[in-house]
Amino acid sequence: TPLLEARAIGKSFLGITALDGVDFTLHRGEVHALLGENGAGKSTLIKILTGVYQRDNGTIRMDGEEIFPASVADAQALGIGTVYQEVNLLENLTVAENLFLGRQPRRFGMVNKAEMRKRSRELLSRYGLDIDVDALLSSYSVAIRQIVAIARAVDLSGKVLVLDEPTASLDSNEVEMLFDVLRKLKAEGLGIIIITHFLNQVYAIADRTTVLRNGRLVGSRALEGLPRMELISMMLGRELQHITR
Ligand code: ADP
Ligand code: MG
Ligand code: MG
Repeated sequence: TPLLEARAIGKSFLGITALDGVDFTLHRGEVHALLGENGAGKSTLIKILTGVYQRDNGTIRMDGEEIFPASVADAQALGIGTVYQEVNLLENLTVAENLFLGRQPRRFGMVNKAEMRKRSRELLSRYGLDIDVDALLSSYSVAIRQIVAIARAVDLSGKVLVLDEPTASLDSNEVEMLFDVLRKLKAEGLGIIIITHFLNQVYAIADRTTVLRNGRLVGSRALEGLPRMELISMMLGRELQHITR
């Protein structure tokens, strides 16, 4: 059974059909790029998977069991975590405070700051991050803030990680740093869904792609051996002419 399996997903907003009969399958240890032109329905699909919106039609199964993510917190409890483009962390709290935001410290046996610091260090060492967890989050680069957000999301959910345009404000070294983290999570068996408009990055990190166009599924393909021109044609819905001079 796949890790996550969405079938025939439909969603409309006041007469606008955002998704019409879309299928999407994610396996353990897979990085899956969700592609399509602006307005294709990518964000709507991941918002349905992460509990921001509820589907009108279709089924979603996690490890074979149907799920109905009713809120972001609910999706997290079901195993689906997300990091949005605008990294959803508080700049003026410390790294450690961000990592444990919204949780009851006592439930995790963290009665004091020292314990919270220790747990934070352990959590981040999994990602190769050795930073001062008592420093304000705002003192770190966007890439590090994003990895902290990923650490938090994975710690809360643990099965599926959803990233909507995670590389938008990163330089090329930071993109590599992020991809190292994703490869590590993938090796641990997580399923990762990524939306990005950079096709070079898609080929660098993703195993498979699902392409949407105007709210409909165009196809789902392994990236290995998929010609770039063919992928672009899937996204745009027309053949590209090779330019010859
Ligand atoms: P993408 O992320 O691929 O650019 P979206 O999922 O954002 O596409 O949008 C798909 C379609 O659904 C678009 O026509 C968009 O205008 C519409 N849409 C998305 N969210 C809403 C909303 N909350 N209310 C109304 N229409 C929406
Ligand atoms: Mg859009
Ligand atoms: Mg979008």
